This record gives sequence, structure tokens and C-alpha cells, in this order.
Amino acid sequence: MSVIAFVGLGNMGNPMAGNLVKAGHSVIGYDLMEANLAAAAGRGVEAARSADDAVSQAEVIITMLPAGKHVREVYADLAPKAARGTLFIDCSTVDVESARAAHAIAKEHGHLSVDAPVSGGTVGAENGTLTFMAGGEKAAFDKAEPLLQPMAGKVVHCGDGGAGQAAKICNNMILGISMIGVSEAFVLAEKLGLDRQALFNVASTSSGQCWALTTYCPVPGPVPTSPANRDYKPGFAAGLMLKDLKLSQEAASSAGAVTPLGAEATSLYALFAAQGRSDEDFSSIVNFLRGSRES
Ligand code: NAD
Repeated sequence: MSVIAFVGLGNMGNPMAGNLVKAGHSVIGYDLMEANLAAAAGRGVEAARSADDAVSQAEVIITMLPAGKHVREVYADLAPKAARGTLFIDCSTVDVESARAAHAIAKEHGHLSVDAPVSGGTVGAENGTLTFMAGGEKAAFDKAEPLLQPMAGKVVHCGDGGAGQAAKICNNMILGISMIGVSEAFVLAEKLGLDRQALFNVASTSSGQCWALTTYCPVPGPVPTSPANRDYKPGFAAGLMLKDLKLSQEAASSAGAVTPLGAEATSLYALFAAQGRSDEDFSSIVNFLRGSRES
């Protein structure tokens, strides 16, 4: 069992740290917000007075922070202080450039590092069923994999440093685009007088089939477990989808990739968010496209 410093105990980090405690690890947590530290203490996480305090005792440092700038700052602060050979695992969703910069900082100080963003949301974090998309050298991944398992349904090694973040934003760009495509089809069907269940019955068993339709259908009825059936409570909030789409566009621009549908999806989610609807599930984009909240 390992001594793990867990930095960033928000909506995701708190239950993730709790699952590491349940697996028998000794977890020392740190967060800027006192309330989040207290909640983690309730899950058996030892509350550190500072990030330095957490790191001084740890063999492994896991971060779950809002964005790339937080990850870069925390790595720059902690990498020089950690014992040589410490394993750094960043589970935050950040831009590929920041992920690569974090790997470089860790390497400069003689540490192992893995970028390991997740999908599965707060429910997956609570239930220990997250999918981890990992990037980093094989030796680092092999050491990280058993530590991720108590928080995971699945762990996939995607390649070298930054490959986990690349996989995450490419997947979520597919999801953002396909949700808009499925939503447009339902809006068109309504205008054509086509019953939504009839469209679902046809598309779900023919070439229009995709996850956004069959698992996460954006209109109420055909898939009873989708957020459309509970007034679009997330689920996966539109604000987080917008964050990931923006990351995909930053990456496309710096890599010279042409992603016109990714760009359009980003614009549509930005307009949706500008209506003050970031906290609705991302499938509520169907209501934005229809121009009302009616279903
Ligand atoms: P959150 O805002 O609830 O938690 C982030 C935590 O980091 C906060 O408690 C904040 O106080 C803390 N923090 C910020 N800077 C810090 C620092 N320097 N030192 C210590 N603590 C610091 O966010 P979240 O929902 O837990 O998401 C975390 C990451 O996971 C994000 O990158 C997000 O995109 C990603 N993610 C979230 C979900 C989701 O459904 N919430 C799903 C997949 C991925």
C-alpha cells in the first residue's frame, strides 16, 4: 500500500481520494477550500495543512485540479520538493500543452509522471468506475495503473506524455458533435410531424446509431435513464462540455488540424452557456436548437 498525496479535493477529487482510502492506501489530502478538506476527512483522508505538508511524506502525488494553469503551478511548486523518483499522476482535464509541460517539470526533477484524465463524471468518481486515459512512459504507467484501479472501471494506456489528454479531448469532440447531430434530427423530426419514438426505433438500429442517441437520448421517452427524463439535470454539464470543446479547438489550432464541426460545436455550446445554461446537462442543447425549453 502507498502513501499518496491528493491535491484538489473538489467534486471529483473528494470521492476519488475516498476510494483510495477504501483500497487501503494512506491518503494525505490538500485543497485550498477548507470545506473540501473537511469533506475528504470524513472519507478517511488525512487533512494536510499545506501542499508541502502533504508532499513531504508521499511516494505518489495525484492532482485533480480545474485547469492547465493550476496543474503547471502545482507541479512547479511541488516537483522540486518531492523525493526523487516520486510518481506524479495528473487526473485533471487540461490542454495538451500544459500536460506536456507538467511531464517536463516532473522529468527535470527526476520523477515519473502520467497524465490520466477521466470520463465518467461524479457518479463514476463515487462508484470507482471512471475510465482513465493515460499518457506517459511505460515504466510510469505500469506503476500508476494499480493505483488507479480502485477508482477505475477501465484504464487505457494511450501513449507518451499528453496522449491521455489528447484521447480525452478527441473523444469529447466526437461526443459534442454527435449530440448536436442527434438533437438536430429530433428537432427536424418534430417539424416534419415524425414521432420521436419512431425516429429512435429506426435510427437506433440503422446507420444513425451512436452513443448520444442510444444511451443518452436528448429527448424524453426513448431512453428512460437519459437526463432528458429528469429535466436535463446533469449528468455532464454543458459548461464542462464547452471547456472540453475549447481544449479540442486549442489543440487543433496548435497542431494544424482542420476541425470545422468541432469549431461549430464549440460556438453552439458557447451561445448556450451565454444564456446562463452551463449547469444544464449538455444534451439540453436540443432545447437551445429548438429555441425553447419545451419538450
Ligand atoms: P472542482 O472545481 O469541484 O474541484 C477542483 C478543486 O481544486 C477545488 O476544490 C479547488 O479548491 C482545488 N484547487 C484549485 N487550485 C488548487 C491548488 N493550487 N491547490 C489545492 N487545491 C486547489 O472541479 P471537479 O469537478 O472536481 O473537476 C476537476 C477536474 O476534473 C477538472 O479538470 C474537470 O474538467 C475534470 N472532470 C470533471 C468531471 C465532472 O463531472 N465534474 C468529469 C470529468 C473530468
